[in-house]
Amino acid sequence: MENCIFCKMVSGEIEPDKVYEDEDVLAFRDLNPQAPTHVLIIPKRHISTINDLEDVDAGLVGRLYLTAKEVARNDGISERGYRTVMNCNAEAGQSVFHVHLHLLGGRAMSWPPG
Ligand code: AMP
Repeated sequence: MENCIFCKMVSGEIEPDKVYEDEDVLAFRDLNPQAPTHVLIIPKRHISTINDLEDVDAGLVGRLYLTAKEVARNDGISERGYRTVMNCNAEAGQSVFHVHLHLLGGRAMSWPPG
């Protein structure tokens, strides 16, 4: 989608700090990391928010989580623990309207989140 920064990463117009890519999924390090590991895992197809997901996307969403698992393993944080977050719309703090799963780890996390 035009003017979507994450679509520009998928197309190669902007080069992300890529950690994983396959036919449907791209994962790259966050520009403004909130933890030693902060990776964003996105579907290559533009989907704006969780509210726009459909039944047919169930497998794709599963792939985002399986990618998070692999990236966590590669970064050596699987056993210590990590957090996955997908923000939806304004009150949750979504700022990029292309669905993305945050993978955060490498430090202790508090709960509840702010
Ligand atoms: P959210 O607030 O959940 O929509 O998360 C958007 C995330 O995208 C934030 O953590 C930003 O730091 C990150 N971000 C924005 N632009 C870029 C970029 N060009 N490369 C990597 N991460 C980005």
